[in-house]
Amino acid sequence: MKKISRRDFNSTLAKGVGGATLIAATPLACAMGNSQDRKKLGIALVGLGSYSTYQLAPALLETEYCYLAGIVTGTSEKEKVWASKYGIPKENIYNYQNFDEIVKNDAIDVVYVVLPNSMHADISIRAAKAGKHVICEKPMAINVEECDAIIQACEENNVKLGIGYRLHSEPYTQEVKRLVKEKAFGSINYISADAGYRSMSDPDQWRLNKKLSGGGALMNMGVYAIQSVIYGTGENPISVAAQEYSTRPSYFKDTDETITAQFEFESGAVGNIMTSHNVRANRLFASCERGWFELDPASTYIPLAGRTSRGKLDFPQESQQKLQMDDFAKHIQLNTINRVPGEMGKRDMMIVEAIYESISKGGQKVKLNFTPNYGFAG
Ligand code: NAD
Repeated sequence: MKKISRRDFNSTLAKGVGGATLIAATPLACAMGNSQDRKKLGIALVGLGSYSTYQLAPALLETEYCYLAGIVTGTSEKEKVWASKYGIPKENIYNYQNFDEIVKNDAIDVVYVVLPNSMHADISIRAAKAGKHVICEKPMAINVEECDAIIQACEENNVKLGIGYRLHSEPYTQEVKRLVKEKAFGSINYISADAGYRSMSDPDQWRLNKKLSGGGALMNMGVYAIQSVIYGTGENPISVAAQEYSTRPSYFKDTDETITAQFEFESGAVGNIMTSHNVRANRLFASCERGWFELDPASTYIPLAGRTSRGKLDFPQESQQKLQMDDFAKHIQLNTINRVPGEMGKRDMMIVEAIYESISKGGQKVKLNFTPNYGFAG
């Protein structure tokens, strides 16, 4: 943890929560105690691949409640590069062998797991056992059993757990949730969400290797489409039926290429998703009782855009990762809501497993049984 400088502090007041007067008058301010004593939480990124390098580390230069304090990497050449670029002291650099020594390092408050999916559970559990709060990237793990093990480890060690679904901190997505919650267009009749891209260049990448990824497009982009139909209706689904298509089997040897799935919701709404490693698509569309709303793109980290039957949506653009990590740091420090708890990551994995089950049964409908607010449907 490091102390927030006066400059950071002033900027937090000005930009982050709406000004000093407001802060002094809110319950949040009371929870913060003396704001000048508040510390920025130290985050250690585990896995310095593309997402850490190009999104998370740059965002951590902008965050107001946390900063990049450490790294965990199996590639020794990266240590020097990252240390000099981000001013990371030697004692905050770990590899996978000595990672558990992080328990002794008070500068690291949060471990952010950004590894291939099959490695999420192991490091998340080790981080929790070391007493560190955990952000685990999506998909949370490769099966429900692993999700349970992560949740249990965090509970037993009294640390917070968040999943890397950055969109919950993003204004267009938050607007969709508001429209749904307030029934701005009446009830939702139909929701559709597509999330895919065309993978061309590297048949040996870990995302196409089931042992490392747990599955193909569904595990990677499909979880965004699943999320979209849930926050786009404000409900968890009660059943799913799914189909798988393969048009390039020689490239997608080990993992699913394209999947479609249809959802039923208690309210009577129906949903459809398409996810693919062979089709470019990124959209959420809802047809409602008295109008419609749409995000296109709906889940990229280039700026989202959207429209409704009343007109264009227009929100300021900020790094989604910055917003997400600050929200998690505030959850730890100020006890604000955990926007993306472990139960949400587990819920999505339950749906992923139901989709694979339906496909294995020739598209048969599989029932899902979530309690009304399980995994924060909103
Ligand atoms: P990447 O391939 O770019 O990086 C993976 C990192 O893991 C590399 O540093 C690599 O060295 C390391 N690694 C360790 N063991 C490995 C092994 N056996 N095989 C391959 N790599 C190994 O992947 P990425 O795009 O950074 O994705 C990492 C995680 O982040 C995934 O779970 C992915 O779903 C997630 N992600 C989330 C978002 C988001 O928007 N939330 C975006 C991209 C990736």
